[in-house]
Amino acid sequence: MDIPQLRPQTCVVCARPFPGRYALKTCSDECRKAWNRKRHKTYYKARGPRPCVVCGQIFDGRTTAKTCSDECRRAHKNAVQKTWAKTNVARVRVMQARNRQKPKQREYAKVYREAHRERQRELNARYLLKMQIAMAIAQELGIEL
Ligand SMILES: [Zn+2]
Ligand SMILES: [Zn+2]
Repeated sequence: MDIPQLRPQTCVVCARPFPGRYALKTCSDECRKAWNRKRHKTYYKARGPRPCVVCGQIFDGRTTAKTCSDECRRAHKNAVQKTWAKTNVARVRVMQARNRQKPKQREYAKVYREAHRERQRELNARYLLKMQIAMAIAQELGIEL
């Protein structure tokens, strides 16, 4: 079997090839730190005080947020959803029809979960019992488990 994780990679910082896992981007700790610093900078570069897209109030935007508060965030989300609904009328209809069916499905899922929990409890109890018996026998025979 071949090991795909050990394909040669090229370091994104110093461009040196190195053997490494697929997800690795850098050859060394040094390069990894440099890469993280760079990413950090580009992420935060566009950040800073900016107006809220809902109320226009300037807010201290240290994250990717578009709005100043939870309230505005909700309002913005609603607006986005409404716009989406207007342009996706057919899909909204399908979703509404699906939602009408949901109460029955939810009820079924609940019953299923409860039955499953019961069964899991039973299996756990049986497993514990088996372990206890095995340990008792082992103790009697002087075997360390
Ligand atoms: Zn490197
Ligand atoms: Zn706002």
